[in-house]
Amino acid sequence: MSHFTPTPFTVPVFDLLHRPGEMRERSLDIVVPEGFGNAVIGVKTGAEMRVDVRLESLHDGILVTGNVDVVAAGECVRCLIDVEVPLEVDFAELFAYSVDEAFDYTVSGEHVDLEPLVRDAVVLSLPFQPVCQEDCLGLCPQCGVRLLDNPGHKHEEPIDPRWAALAGLDGLTEANTQDVDGSASSSTEEKR
Ligand SMILES: [Zn+2]
Ligand SMILES: [Zn+2]
Repeated sequence: MSHFTPTPFTVPVFDLLHRPGEMRERSLDIVVPEGFGNAVIGVKTGAEMRVDVRLESLHDGILVTGNVDVVAAGECVRCLIDVEVPLEVDFAELFAYSVDEAFDYTVSGEHVDLEPLVRDAVVLSLPFQPVCQEDCLGLCPQCGVRLLDNPGHKHEEPIDPRWAALAGLDGLTEANTQDVDGSASSSTEEKR
């Protein structure tokens, strides 16, 4: 392949091509060049990733089995603090010699590119609702403090919702009057 550009995820397999029965093991220590993940958690750019693979030459291509070790980073969906989730993900895929719909991955020239395989495996194992701990209580709906940091936190008995609505309306009316008066006069009025 004349256009081949090596990346941290490419592994040479020239010594395995069309030699069924041959096998190699490789370990890659990768500094992730470009982060990836879902909306709430992912592997950040620059994260350290360890990929251990076994490459076996088969008739159809190269069978790649192995696992990836990496720490994903994101936010607790309940209390919004930073969370780190260590992941260890196994994978096994055939990199075929021929481009065929039956196979997701192909040997390109004398290399296999593990990046799409590793990314897919990691993304599939990411939590959709990461939490800092299983019993995270989230944030106080009234004032927003993190409830795990404030055991026993509570407020006065909630005001009767009908009164709360009236109080809100009252506040709104005042604010509206001030807005209509214009900024200069309203600031004078506020001080009175
Ligand atoms: Zn939390
Ligand atoms: Zn509160």
